[in-house]
Amino acid sequence: MKNKIQFCKKCLYGSDHPLGITFDEDGICSGCRIHEEKDKLDWDYRWEKLKKLVKPYKSKFHTYDCIVPVTAANDSYFIVDLVKNKLNLNPLLVTYNKYYNTPLGIRNLANLRIKFNCDILIQNVNPISVKKITRSTLRSLGSIYWHCLAGQTVFPVQTAITHKIPLIIWGAHQGLEQVGMFSHKHEVEMTRRYRKDHDLMGLEADNLISVFDILDERDIWQYRYPEDYELNNIGVRGIYLGNYVRWDPKAQHEEMIKKYGFLSANFNRTFDCYDHVDCFNYMGVHDKLKLIKNGYSKVTDHASREIRHGRLTRDQGLYLVQKYENNEANYTDLLCEWLGIKKDGLQFLINEHTNKNYFVEQTPGNFSFKGWSFLNKQNKTQKSSNNNIDNFKYIQNSKLCDQENSDKRKYITIGKGYP
Ligand SMILES: [Zn+2]
Repeated sequence: MKNKIQFCKKCLYGSDHPLGITFDEDGICSGCRIHEEKDKLDWDYRWEKLKKLVKPYKSKFHTYDCIVPVTAANDSYFIVDLVKNKLNLNPLLVTYNKYYNTPLGIRNLANLRIKFNCDILIQNVNPISVKKITRSTLRSLGSIYWHCLAGQTVFPVQTAITHKIPLIIWGAHQGLEQVGMFSHKHEVEMTRRYRKDHDLMGLEADNLISVFDILDERDIWQYRYPEDYELNNIGVRGIYLGNYVRWDPKAQHEEMIKKYGFLSANFNRTFDCYDHVDCFNYMGVHDKLKLIKNGYSKVTDHASREIRHGRLTRDQGLYLVQKYENNEANYTDLLCEWLGIKKDGLQFLINEHTNKNYFVEQTPGNFSFKGWSFLNKQNKTQKSSNNNIDNFKYIQNSKLCDQENSDKRKYITIGKGYP
């Protein structure tokens, strides 16, 4: 048992956050402190700065001005709306096919490119290699998402080089938003280093070959980050809109629901209906693995974000975390079928990665949870606090898939356009 995890007095993050976090003398974490900038910075000034920054990239020949990486969730509508309608740029949208696609995600992505009238490139890496990589990273890293994160972060950069479009526009920077790794004023840009250390759990594509002998060059080359000289030749840079626009995912998604018909769906492991509705696994097996390895899951990220935005109290956030975090991961049958593994094989691998700091083995294979929400000292005040969250609402206007119809309850490995 880790005996000395410090918890933020404002949000629900602990001192062993995998992205790294610090605390000031008042016991407030770096993520909360940087969040305070959102209500202090002059966002009109920052927007003007952004307009100046992108101006030189405007093409004189009505071709693409920039690349915008998108998914069928995660603020993609909001980002494209800003880039296309407010910055008046013509973006080339790019997306990596992660194969775990929900019918709702395929619909959201098709609706995105129709409503915004944008061209889109979709990277479909061959499924044999994707499955080989996923079986390997699941076994050794406890991750089914390495290929998704690697693909999503590399394909836009490769496209910048092959299409000679130097500017890539991302949404928010996760390190800034979650743990306050940087100030908004630092205006950090995309780096190879952050991708490797944080997105890819320290393993770049080439490292996979040396770690897993079932993989070879043919499996991993699509995930290789371009060389520095290639990036420099084109002048590739990736900027984050979150440094120039006051970032608030809940408000942003609700605006996109009203304006462009973004569809949302309920999950059973978090209250946030907007993020990750394009994926059967992110809020399922992937989130369960996050809990198993780190002692907290995505609902803690969501609750901490909402506490910082002032829409939940700390106690309400903790109440929601405890309500959701140990719920079942749905759709494991789909993953097993796709990967060609048995359900108890998946369970065995999950158990292998169980972090004994947060889970105490009572009998062989049976663990009791002693993660962040358990260790969090505020637990003790739980009963006396007001957990009435009736006014805290997310708009659920659709569902991931049609549960009744087994044909539709499948990964859509390559989706057709709608309508
Ligand atoms: Zn905090």
